[in-house]
Amino acid sequence: MILSIASGKGGTGKTTVAVNMALSLKDVQLLDCDVEEPNVHLLLHPNINEEKSVYVSTPQVDEELCDHCGKCGEFCQYNAILVSSEKVLVFLELCHSCGGCVIVCPGKAISEEQHRIGTLKCGSTGDLEVVYGELDVGEPMAVPVIREVKRRIESDKTVILDSPPGTSCPVIETVKGSDFCVLVTEPTPFGLHDLRITVQVLEDMEIPFGVVVNRAGLGDKKVYEYCEEKNIPILLEIPYRRKIAELYSKGIPFSSEMPEWKEKFQTLFDEARKLAGK
Ligand code: SF4
Ligand code: SF4
Repeated sequence: MILSIASGKGGTGKTTVAVNMALSLKDVQLLDCDVEEPNVHLLLHPNINEEKSVYVSTPQVDEELCDHCGKCGEFCQYNAILVSSEKVLVFLELCHSCGGCVIVCPGKAISEEQHRIGTLKCGSTGDLEVVYGELDVGEPMAVPVIREVKRRIESDKTVILDSPPGTSCPVIETVKGSDFCVLVTEPTPFGLHDLRITVQVLEDMEIPFGVVVNRAGLGDKKVYEYCEEKNIPILLEIPYRRKIAELYSKGIPFSSEMPEWKEKFQTLFDEARKLAGK
């Protein structure tokens, strides 16, 4: 069972749900795919037993061999190559490392070189396996690091993926292939706005999903009305409570100090599994 935890908006408590659920289940892999700002490890302090750099291939043009025919620039769908009569310019921040320009170049003037963009870290805390990626500062492409994190998925385990916030490529890459997605939201107009967008994305991807309302009791009822109207199951409500907020501010997963929540997260997982048909 691969379960992703997403939210359209940052700061809704997505990581809190991912971590507390992982701590409530057995034989779990928790993968933090929010590679621009991973924070699962800040709550779990895993012992890291493997660390490796993540590289992507980027094109290098040998001007000696290039006749400025322009084929590479025409091919590149990402406008990462500009060919002028004098020079070929490669914009690495736009390159998606597809390797196509190398293939189409008739003069074999393009070769690939490895460019480091981040780090993959694997470790554990108790019997919980933790994997996360860190994108290097200034690097624009999160997706290759996320792919590297997801390569560590072991299909015989329960896998929980903590997605980045938003609905852009890194989120799509994270939730792709999930059996179920838990959407964490808060009962505010901002929460509802971003929930609507994320629901649209998951419907397009045909991934079954349900909602967790965090900080329940804080705002209004519009999130509930929307879920009812769209027939979206609300799987759990986490109340806006001082003790939960205090534990979070100390970096302590609240189910560790409030064990009654472990059962609630187990029920949440069981419900998700049922809805996923697993
Ligand atoms: S395809 Fe090759 S030869 Fe043509 S402009 Fe690009 S690098 Fe130069
Ligand atoms: S590797 Fe692909 S994305 Fe990058 S410059 Fe070449 S064609 Fe464009």
